[in-house]
Amino acid sequence: MNQVNTTESMEFKAEVQQLLNILSHSLYTEREIFLRELISNASDALNRMQFEMLTNQEILDPNVELAIRIDFDEEAKTITIADSGIGMTREELVENLGTIAHSGAMAFLKKLDAEKRVDDIIGQFGVGFYAVFMVAEEVRVSSRSYRPDAAAWVWTSTGDNTYTLASAEKADRGTSIEVKLKEDATEFAAAWKLEQTVKKHSDYVSFPIYVKDKVANQQTAIWQQSPSQVEEDAYNDFYRQLTLDFEKPLLHLHIVADVPVDIHSILFIPTQRERGMLRIRNDYGLKLYSRKILIQEYNKDMLPEYMRFIEGIVDSMDIPLNVARESVQSSRTMNHIQKALRSRVIKTLRELGEEKPEDYMTFWKEFGSFIKEGVSTDFAGRDDLLPLLRFQTSRSEGKLVSLADYVARMVDEQDAIYYILGDTLASVTSSPHLDPFKSRDLEVLYLVDPLDAFMVQSLREYESKPLKNVDDPDLTLPKTAADEALATEAAKVEQESFDHLVTRFKNVLDERIVDVRASKVLKDSPARLVAPESGPEHELARVRRFLEQDYGIPARILEINRAHPLIQNLAHLVEQAENNPIIDLSIEQLFENMLLLEGLHPNPAQMVPRIQSLLEAAAAKNLT
Ligand code: ADP
Ligand code: MG
Repeated sequence: MNQVNTTESMEFKAEVQQLLNILSHSLYTEREIFLRELISNASDALNRMQFEMLTNQEILDPNVELAIRIDFDEEAKTITIADSGIGMTREELVENLGTIAHSGAMAFLKKLDAEKRVDDIIGQFGVGFYAVFMVAEEVRVSSRSYRPDAAAWVWTSTGDNTYTLASAEKADRGTSIEVKLKEDATEFAAAWKLEQTVKKHSDYVSFPIYVKDKVANQQTAIWQQSPSQVEEDAYNDFYRQLTLDFEKPLLHLHIVADVPVDIHSILFIPTQRERGMLRIRNDYGLKLYSRKILIQEYNKDMLPEYMRFIEGIVDSMDIPLNVARESVQSSRTMNHIQKALRSRVIKTLRELGEEKPEDYMTFWKEFGSFIKEGVSTDFAGRDDLLPLLRFQTSRSEGKLVSLADYVARMVDEQDAIYYILGDTLASVTSSPHLDPFKSRDLEVLYLVDPLDAFMVQSLREYESKPLKNVDDPDLTLPKTAADEALATEAAKVEQESFDHLVTRFKNVLDERIVDVRASKVLKDSPARLVAPESGPEHELARVRRFLEQDYGIPARILEINRAHPLIQNLAHLVEQAENNPIIDLSIEQLFENMLLLEGLHPNPAQMVPRIQSLLEAAAAKNLT
């Protein structure tokens, strides 16, 4: 190629200009993090180089040490960060440092405006490189790609709206970034300052970082150490470097095994699920290493999918280095590792639940839905997950309890675990279905999360106790002393007039119900809707209603309480004044009340005119 050696001037994209303007004119106290960002880029470039070397024969300088070198000149007030990484071609310089693909800049600026600090956030938007302009008067990036035929180029900018590109003399592979320091940033042109900053922010970078001729970082991959040698702080630092989440993780697991498969893994459970849109990593998955070489950035096979909230890395000597990324998936080694990690995660969470219930609540609040997803999807491993579940119940007084807690306080003769499905806590706590359970002291799980309806399909049993929906029409509940009193009360309405009322209900409600019948269990409530058949099918209806906007719920059975004054009065009214409009209004309203309590009412506002008529009738009645 016959390269004309001219300097070409180009403009930054508008967002980048704005970003540069702010970075170079504000005084951020954390500006030392520019070094962390440059080192992190160098380390990425070295990782990618390492990976190329596994598969690619045609490489410039194949034998050069993979390292980062920091040099400085106190008098000239410059520092230089050089790496022997993958390098950049001219096009890559333009694309990565100039014009394209920096949609992150806008998002970053917004966040910066809110947070007023750079350090936590800059790396998360793919704009870390520009942090250098907090300390730089001018930056020169000389780079030569690893491709043997690529030429070297130099990119320069003073952080205003433009940058220049020119061909350069650079014999060796990689990138060298020369920073001319601003007057007020000359402190960085000193060995101690550089060493300290490297130690603080980049200690675990897995390539040597030389400051002049001295290695300044510890470099040992922390996961290769024995867990007893690693301090808590080191895990936290590592987590931060991995995720850029500046909140400490809720817990970490350090897993080391050498037989039958070598595993060195550190897994983290974050404290929060939503860490803003800010994540350094724009996908989920574990970092997969083999012999300290990063072979996959987002491995999704090492943990079941529902554990995607977990961050971390896995390193195994037993994963062949030269495998293609796609074929990493299904080896026996991988299976083994997956099993080991999965069971360690579950065991650790179980222990957390037992030993630190408060921390466990934090976990459950943030990540409980993933566990529920697991119960629904991990058929083979479901039973392991059940101890992790937590529920509010009719007896938990706002706290969350486990299935084990529930089973431990089951009453005599109780042979099932009962649950009620609903949309909100308020609707389930006032549900008529709970009547017979309250009077018998039977605890009921409140399932009010949309995911619960899914989950309960797969959760048919816990420790050989079946789970049963309280609206199951075939429940057999222990007898109580109150049953007799109820029967006496019910007998106050004659069978014949009760039958008339039932017929009236059927006529009014017609195809909206499958049947109307006397309830055997209701005590304080006038009525309830039960499923036309038992089993999980009708619970699916709830799921479908959630997913499909205009899905109509299949009709149910209306049970009415013959011992309840409202039902009794209606029965009398039918006998005395068959044509009184209050009868049909009340039937309609009672039915809709039940829909509402079930969370099945399509449009509660529709009830208002009818309620109004009923109120008018009640007011008129009280006048006379
Ligand atoms: P990020 O690292 O999040 O992608 P940066 O702004 O830090 O964002 O860097 C932008 C891009 O510039 C990198 O993705 C990479 O492609 C390129 N780059 C930066 N520094 C180097 C380097 N030392 N060697 C090779 N490429 C680099
Ligand atoms: Mg970066």
